[in-house]
Amino acid sequence: MSQDYDEWGLSTRAIRVGHHRTPEGEHSEPIFPTSSFIFSSAAEAAARFAGDEPGNIYSRFTNPTVRAFEQRLAAMEGAEACVATSSGMAAILATCMGLLKAGDHIVSSRSIFGTTTVLFEKYLTRFGITTTFVPQTDTDAWERGIRPNTRMLFVETPSNPLTELVDIEMLSNMARAYDCLLVVDNCFCTPALQQPFALGADLVIHSATKFLDGQGRCVGGAVVGDAKLVGEEVFGVLRSAGPSMSPFNAWVFLKGLETLGIRMQAHSRNAAELARWLEDQLAVERVYYPGLESHPQHELAARQQKAPGGIVSFVVKGGREAAWKVMDSARMLSITANLGDVKSTITHPATTTHGRLTPEQREASGICEGLVRIAVGLEDIDDIRADLQRGFDNI
Ligand SMILES: *Cc1c(COP(=O)(O)O)cnc(C)c1O
Repeated sequence: MSQDYDEWGLSTRAIRVGHHRTPEGEHSEPIFPTSSFIFSSAAEAAARFAGDEPGNIYSRFTNPTVRAFEQRLAAMEGAEACVATSSGMAAILATCMGLLKAGDHIVSSRSIFGTTTVLFEKYLTRFGITTTFVPQTDTDAWERGIRPNTRMLFVETPSNPLTELVDIEMLSNMARAYDCLLVVDNCFCTPALQQPFALGADLVIHSATKFLDGQGRCVGGAVVGDAKLVGEEVFGVLRSAGPSMSPFNAWVFLKGLETLGIRMQAHSRNAAELARWLEDQLAVERVYYPGLESHPQHELAARQQKAPGGIVSFVVKGGREAAWKVMDSARMLSITANLGDVKSTITHPATTTHGRLTPEQREASGICEGLVRIAVGLEDIDDIRADLQRGFDNI
């Protein structure tokens, strides 16, 4: 297998990078379900442990199937290194543990994944790392949030569930000016639609659980970046703290990456059609989707992303009661928290993902009672529309 993939496009990398064929001549990537690896001699064991000789020792450190996934994802993001983790949250934790210390400060968008907020606010503070949350689209607020001890800017773009964007290039210039690292959670776009490193990001985080798997089977994550920050610092945390990815899950994600490009385009196509249809519905007050001209950052989305992505949110007239009626009238759409699946999922953020927030906090973040989020899957768009139409007819 060629290591020289610099010339390859994204789809070729997604399919060809990372498989180092064994003497068996297998065509599809093998799984190595082994906790440890044997040495041919005591001297070889000593050399591997001392780091004088490369090679596998133990699957908490390295595993060939996990490495194949890491190499493939790194190649797709256009980065030197990738470390796979047991979940997306483990990826964020390992990044913070590897790159921050007590006394450091984070400036984060307040529109990030709810559990990331909990990790920053409740747990990192115990270890002396504090966070200032700022409105995602307010450039001045980002800059005002920066202090002398700020080491990291953290963002997701587009955000969940309101699809707010941030100009990654602008934020990376700010990070550079203040000597901080810019970390982008690229979960919603994936490298198929958005390339944060080309725009100056320092690290990319993934919840592989979502679109990278694409079929809702496994929980996993990844940190992507350069050989020093990720290959040494974050990898060191994995090796010592242990939230490693299992070989089986790595294999599922590895195979998921092969179809990521066409899936993301198909998710976007379905989502765009659905969003346009929703805009015409009398029962719908407002639609959030970066592919719509009514989206305040439509132009930035067109510039920064190859396609608008698969997440559409909308506000139903009539508050919680109407929103729940739409959800409960659906016979096909799955009421579930996951996203990025071939199966479309529908959620009510105000009472689930954002249920912990106070009513005032929800109001400030725009998570109103009538808001519904759909992670648009790959079913026929007519069937998705028909499933929602039933709910609108029932209101
Ligand atoms: C789901 C998600 C995470 C957390 O990932 P897990 O795999 O569930 O731990 C982090 N960021 C975003 C944007 C997510 O959607």
